[in-house]
Amino acid sequence: MAVETIAPTGISPIAGIDYLSSRVLPEPDVFIHTSSGERIPAHTSILASVSPVLENIIDQPRRHRSSERIIQIHGVPCEAVTAFLGFLYCSRCTDEQMEKYGVHLLALSHVYLVPQLKQRCIKVLAERLTIENVVDLLQLARLCDAPDLYIKCMKLLTNHFKSVEATEGWKFLQKYDPWFELEILQFMDEDESRKKKSRKRKEEQRLYAELSEAMECLEHICTEGCTDVGPYGVELRNERRPCSKYATCHGIQLLITHFARCSKRMNGGCLRCKRMWQLFRLHSYICQQTHSCKVPLCREMQMKMQQVKRKDDPLWKLLARKVTSARVMSTLSLPKRKRDDEIRISMDNYRIRSFKLKR
Ligand SMILES: [Zn+2]
Ligand SMILES: [Zn+2]
Ligand SMILES: [Zn+2]
Repeated sequence: MAVETIAPTGISPIAGIDYLSSRVLPEPDVFIHTSSGERIPAHTSILASVSPVLENIIDQPRRHRSSERIIQIHGVPCEAVTAFLGFLYCSRCTDEQMEKYGVHLLALSHVYLVPQLKQRCIKVLAERLTIENVVDLLQLARLCDAPDLYIKCMKLLTNHFKSVEATEGWKFLQKYDPWFELEILQFMDEDESRKKKSRKRKEEQRLYAELSEAMECLEHICTEGCTDVGPYGVELRNERRPCSKYATCHGIQLLITHFARCSKRMNGGCLRCKRMWQLFRLHSYICQQTHSCKVPLCREMQMKMQQVKRKDDPLWKLLARKVTSARVMSTLSLPKRKRDDEIRISMDNYRIRSFKLKR
């Protein structure tokens, strides 16, 4: 390209850009006119190679071939234009230029399609977000199609809305752009319902994980036996240390013990008996080994399910599927048992005949 081979002209084509003096450049063949009336010499070959928009402008036929080529860049301070041209020439901007003209550089990089500069501006502006400038930057992010910056602004605005409401930027926006104000308020509202949904989902997942563990413990108690409850013919391990899921096992053992001894029973309105029955029922939906299974009522319930098409079947099936997937997830990730205390609290609420109970 001509730019590299032609001898230096001895002048820096762009005032204030020192690095150009060390480069070998041809005579400038275009002038950038700024709002303040400055004329900054530049090179069409360089401008066109970095910005497709400037390339388009340069390619447009001139009225007189002899006339000077001029490109108008108005609406931003002259220094911002200098910094912009500096970036076009050597892909760099000083921190000071970014600090002072980041906003203008973002606008210029958007208008003239210079993605590298745009990304740099977005990063710098996002780091400098404050309650005072958030409304201005939000508007800019929207105008310049910068979704990352837009979301960051929205989040800050949502989290500190009371303070943002008091800023000049917000008052100005309310007065002159009520549609945008509405857009912001809508985002905040949706954000709140998103958070609610995510809290609800986490809570559900926790419940399914708890139920999944309860199912595991129920099988373990009914097959191997734990400290206080176990099947006939198996020695209870009261002299052994509690099993690894003892927090849950303990709660289920209490529930089984109660179920075996309660005189009120489920039909008498006993809530604990009802809970135990629900755990048996859930097990029968999940159980894969009907014939060898030692969990009480498992076979009876499965036979009944085959005979009668219950109305609530889809709900129980869905629950069983979610609990099974929670079990698969837990065997995949094996989290630390930090939730033991939580599980103990929730399992204490559940308090379960064919059992050997410790006296
Ligand atoms: Zn156990
Ligand atoms: Zn009871
Ligand atoms: Zn079973």
